[in-house]
Amino acid sequence: MSETYVVFDFETTGFTAHKDRIIEIGAVKIQDGRVVERFHRRVNPGIKIPPYISELTGLTDELLEDEPSLEEVMPEFLPFYHDAILVAHNADFDLRFLNAALDESGYLDYVGEVIDTVQLAQILWPRESSYSLQSLATHHNLAHDHPHQALSDAETTANLFLALLDRAQKLPFLLLQQITGLTEYTDWPLRHFFRRLAEGNTSILQFDEPEGCVTIDRLMHRPVQIAVAESPAGGALSDFDVSEVVSVLEKGGPMSDLMPGYEERPQQLDMLRQVAVAFEEQKHLIVEAGTGTGKSLAYLIPSVYYSIAKGERVVVATHTINLQEQLRERDIPLLQQVIPFDFNIEVFKGRGNYVCMRKVATHVNNPGLVTDPAETTFFVRMVAWLIETEGGDREELSLNGEQADHWNKVASGADSCIMKACPWFRNCYYHRARARAQNADVLITNHSLVLTDVKADHNVLPGYQFLVLDEAHHMEDEATKHLGTEVSYFQMYGALNRLLRDKNRGLLFQLLQKVDVLQSGDSSAYEDLRATLETSMEQIGDLRDANEDVFRQLHDFILKHANGTDAGRQTMRLKPDTFDDETLQTAWEGIASASENLQSEVRAMRKLVGRLEELSEDLMKDEMFAGTLTDISGQVKELDQGWQDLAYFLRSVGSESSVLWMEADDKSMRPVVFLYSAPIDVGPLLHTHLFSKKESVVLASATLTINQDFKYVIHQLGLYESNVQGRLMTLQVDSPFDYKKQALLCVPNDCLPVKGVAEDVFTTSFAESLTNLARVSQGRMLVLFTSHRMLRETYHKVKPMLAEHGITVLAHGVDSSSRHRLVQEFQRHPKAVLFGANSFWEGVDIPGEDLSLLVIARLPFWPPNQPVVEARTEKMEREGRNSFMEYSVPQAIIRFKQGFGRLIRTKRDRGAIVIYDRRITESRYGRHFIRSLPGPWTYQGTEREVLKTVYNWLKTPLGE
Ligand code: SF4
Repeated sequence: MSETYVVFDFETTGFTAHKDRIIEIGAVKIQDGRVVERFHRRVNPGIKIPPYISELTGLTDELLEDEPSLEEVMPEFLPFYHDAILVAHNADFDLRFLNAALDESGYLDYVGEVIDTVQLAQILWPRESSYSLQSLATHHNLAHDHPHQALSDAETTANLFLALLDRAQKLPFLLLQQITGLTEYTDWPLRHFFRRLAEGNTSILQFDEPEGCVTIDRLMHRPVQIAVAESPAGGALSDFDVSEVVSVLEKGGPMSDLMPGYEERPQQLDMLRQVAVAFEEQKHLIVEAGTGTGKSLAYLIPSVYYSIAKGERVVVATHTINLQEQLRERDIPLLQQVIPFDFNIEVFKGRGNYVCMRKVATHVNNPGLVTDPAETTFFVRMVAWLIETEGGDREELSLNGEQADHWNKVASGADSCIMKACPWFRNCYYHRARARAQNADVLITNHSLVLTDVKADHNVLPGYQFLVLDEAHHMEDEATKHLGTEVSYFQMYGALNRLLRDKNRGLLFQLLQKVDVLQSGDSSAYEDLRATLETSMEQIGDLRDANEDVFRQLHDFILKHANGTDAGRQTMRLKPDTFDDETLQTAWEGIASASENLQSEVRAMRKLVGRLEELSEDLMKDEMFAGTLTDISGQVKELDQGWQDLAYFLRSVGSESSVLWMEADDKSMRPVVFLYSAPIDVGPLLHTHLFSKKESVVLASATLTINQDFKYVIHQLGLYESNVQGRLMTLQVDSPFDYKKQALLCVPNDCLPVKGVAEDVFTTSFAESLTNLARVSQGRMLVLFTSHRMLRETYHKVKPMLAEHGITVLAHGVDSSSRHRLVQEFQRHPKAVLFGANSFWEGVDIPGEDLSLLVIARLPFWPPNQPVVEARTEKMEREGRNSFMEYSVPQAIIRFKQGFGRLIRTKRDRGAIVIYDRRITESRYGRHFIRSLPGPWTYQGTEREVLKTVYNWLKTPLGE
């Protein structure tokens, strides 16, 4: 390619092009594959530079005082990039500022070609975990000496672009052709780039499929290479000997042979032994193992030994994908080195995680189905990924919010699978994964799939009798979610749109086109088929009206009677006595009758699809036809399921065992409504459908006890009967960390109380305290909130105060909504404070000095008006129990323990935790929180005294 590229970057005073100003321009020119010229100017913005921008870029008001204005610099910059193709990382941002600058300097907007290296990297390196410049530079060994300095950023982006160009030039020609075909008549920004590649120097293009790839229906992919092993290798061990299993991790055992300097952990051995005993005696086990125990090996090793010795499959389920990936990447390879016999261990996820190649082919071979630029990027990304992936697992792609929505269009699904009629069937990612799961000795999956299996009467996972549930403190919430039902306006609206978006788009139209192409032979049969299809298309209109009617009525009902908001939505709980009010009763009857109308429209549609199937027998040998008809049938099943869930919801009103609530978006023009029903008490369901059906279930977590006692979890999870029957074992193993030496817990006894103080007053005082603490710890501080509102208020107060001391504040939901990105940024920054709510209370792993101070703004009680919480507490009160002490406090303690666990991650960590909620020392239940912790050093005093104590603690090295 002989084009000239100019890679550019702006540093600015903020993020809004019409309000903020450029303060630095960096650009490099690329010709013939190398950098030939550089451009660098600092610009006097004529406005004050915010302190955090100065801190980030090193550019201050004083430094820029004598620099030229933008009007003076633009006439120099313009000739530099004139006639070149512009390239930038997150190009939208820089382009907005460029056009604002051009406008201001009296020039026309830039309308030429722009290449965004983020978009290009997403396509050409589809499996990166992050597409930030820093992260791509690190991963691909590109120098990035001065991040947030315009010339350095432009230089790094130029090297990144050259690396991407090199990768693009190696793409198979067939793939380039496919991308060109898909994007030819669109305004997708990268279409010229790929067209030039396809038309370019053929000597460097690959005409053949890359090794290991095949092409079916013009879709190139790498067939699944991973072999499906034979059935469980049971018998390689003659017996299950607990002491033999334990010896794997004992000093002198295989693990210590593998790792020089290996230290045996008695806590880990205890846990391993008890898991083995639970399997052997076919009992359930609840085990609380503190941070650092090494619990995953303590359950994986006995799982492998037991499954091989007894020929019994063991299923291991985690709550988070992170832990699942950790098992796959870290623990399984280790097991393969220390266990002296062969075994099959596989990861199996829910079906929707695997790509359906038939669906990808349908879209890329029918470009009319792919409409907007974001969708085009997604499908280009898909075809580029398919020549690389061996697992077809969406986890390999870090999909952003919009792309994650597009994933539903290509996700494998039972209702849309044409099985053996599918040309990809033999190499289908989902079916291969399922076959491997079927033959696995140990199967790793997630809570969600285990509960889906429970709900589907154990028909989803391969049969098993032995189960390990890690992160078991989530089980109650997960069961509440999965054993209930949920239906939404979008579910129905989406299915209807997929069937027919407008008269020229959608599956029904696609099928009609196909019928016209295939038409031959008996024309009356074709006429029938055509007529039925046309009637089906008309039926969508009636269905849409019926759907709008029922959801519009529900929407109006909620907005009129809602009693609270949740995440910006209006929420209304339907209690058994809600309809004692006659007005509500009458409105509800109107909704019920609209729902019956929807039911008859869905039935009519089902009938039409049945008729289509009857008339299509001869055409089913055409894969494209068969696939489209199966997709239509799948969408109609989705509508049917949606209607049934809606009817179930309406019928359940008045139920004593379920909690029902509705949420409505009051900002949308559409009747966006979500209906939920959930069991109030999941314990009996889990007992009946899980614990009484399995020989042994091990529940493991770092946070299961309250006050060193398992009573709460036994009751909530339905293990009471197993306990009475002597089928339940419990074990609590301490963390190997020395918390007395490693962690200091402080409570300022003069901080403002929770009750009787306006939030604004509290956050003002809290912000001052945080500023003092952050100065003492020099950043390195994580602050956990229970509400986003309080987080934002505090953030805006703290940020300017800390900026004066060179300390950056990063907040979830303000600076980024990605936890992963914020944590990375926090660790990268030498002096930073991180604010997080909800998801930050667990799963954040920042070992070492990067995190030395943890602050808890409030004890983490769930809001009492949350429908499930409210229904559970009401039920307990009816039963004469103390819902606060038996439910609210234990729930909060488990979350509090998770939050506490963020501080000390390794034996070498030392840090302090400060709690700004006096209830922990002043209330009658507060002591349970402290007693539930693993024994940190505790201190109470005034804020001033706490500050001094924290300072002394942090400056004293561990061991002194
Ligand atoms: S076999 Fe089913 S899931 Fe797999 S690619 Fe074909 S249609 Fe999709």
